[in-house]
Amino acid sequence: MSAAPTREPSTATSVTTATATATAADPVLTARQLFGVLRENAAADDENASFPVASLDALRASGLMGLSVPVEYGGLGGSLADLAAVAQELGRGSLSTALIWAMHCQQVATLAEYAGPALRSRLLPRIARGEVYVASVTSEKGKGGHLTSAAAALGREDGDLLIDRDAPIVTGGAQADGFLITMRDSADASANAVTLVYADREQLETTQRDGWNPMGMRATHSVAMTLRGTVPADQRVGAAGGFAEASAAVFAPAAHIGWSASWLGAVCGVLRDALTTLREPSGRRDFDLRSELVLDRIARIRLDVDAVDAFLAQVVREIEEIRRTGGDIGAAPVQLRLNGLKVFASETLMSAADRLMDLLGLRHGYMRGSAIPAERLFRDLKSARLNYSNDRLTTANGTLALFDPEVSLG
Ligand SMILES: Cc1cc2nc3c(=O)[nH]c(=O)nc-3n(C[C@H](O)[C@H](O)[C@H](O)COP(=O)(O)OP(=O)(O)OC[C@H]3O[C@@H](n4cnc5c(N)ncnc54)[C@H](O)[C@@H]3O)c2cc1C
Repeated sequence: MSAAPTREPSTATSVTTATATATAADPVLTARQLFGVLRENAAADDENASFPVASLDALRASGLMGLSVPVEYGGLGGSLADLAAVAQELGRGSLSTALIWAMHCQQVATLAEYAGPALRSRLLPRIARGEVYVASVTSEKGKGGHLTSAAAALGREDGDLLIDRDAPIVTGGAQADGFLITMRDSADASANAVTLVYADREQLETTQRDGWNPMGMRATHSVAMTLRGTVPADQRVGAAGGFAEASAAVFAPAAHIGWSASWLGAVCGVLRDALTTLREPSGRRDFDLRSELVLDRIARIRLDVDAVDAFLAQVVREIEEIRRTGGDIGAAPVQLRLNGLKVFASETLMSAADRLMDLLGLRHGYMRGSAIPAERLFRDLKSARLNYSNDRLTTANGTLALFDPEVSLG
């Protein structure tokens, strides 16, 4: 076990400059301009299972860390469609970085919607300036990934909130400037009375445990930690015990959309590399583009990508429409689609990554260090079903579907 009281400093890497600066008009173009930084650092960060410091620095400088911060606080006021589009672009360069960014945005969207006015005005401008990367603390020993329950109880003393939380897996935990943490509302409260609390790193004593050495998503550097500290009462986010509502309305939709878009972008990036290689004169020596087997493989990968893209775009449209009209995102048909998107994207894109490896073969697809990162994609996407277990979502959706025997679509 090693103490990590302060954020690890940014270390110099081969790519240190980011010229891209996000504008509200075109965050997607900004993300596209970051492709080189993300791509150049992705292999080494994967190899070392280290946090993508240079890529996050570029994101901080670009303004994209403030995508989900409302314009009045200096952010880009981005929509869910912007979140999906930017995550896809980032995913083309580095899936770990895209996921880190998407999870940050899911936290920020929740803060923007549910934090009180004092916390909003203290914190959101700092996030917009790229000063605060917000990590997520929801998983816990015993309850695993279950989002709307918590074991560790929030304490209260002289009006302050006391945090003492074991966190088995925190993406970017060693680097984060702030943490959004789920806690049981009090020692007397039920496990489902979950309260969300924000804490700056400086307000916490953090202990980080070593041992992050996973199969994929290695550059997320998702470490085990304990977090202890005292924060003012106005750092409670949303109602006491009311996280389930915030989760259904903002946190989970942003998560499922941001993750699915990141995975989709990563597959698109490798497919683009594969098609480029196949079309090059040297590629034509290795691949027979008139082979029906090769064409069938390409077609099926493309179908997987198009199907996820269509489902993602439809869910984004539906959620934005419900928000615009003041509808209920927690309603069963909406939750069915949101859960379904995460399950469908994780399974379909894993299948696409598998097909990509068949298409590219041993030299271009299976080898570590190949110019096309198909092998890394395969390892990374294996986590997609587990990162909030698909089994939890299909169990919930099975029940929701039973209550809709008419099968009312759309
Ligand atoms: C790359 C990556 C980054 C992550 N980053 C973070 C982070 O920053 N912060 C954070 O808090 N967490 C993070 N997590 C953890 C994640 O959110 C989940 O908690 C974790 O992946 C689930 O772990 P689990 O499968 O052990 O637990 P569980 O989800 O508890 O599942 C354990 C097993 O039990 C089954 N199961 C459990 N309950 C049910 C049920 N009700 N119905 C059906 N089956 C069930 C599951 O299918 C699974 O096989 C991350 C995970 C990954 C892979």
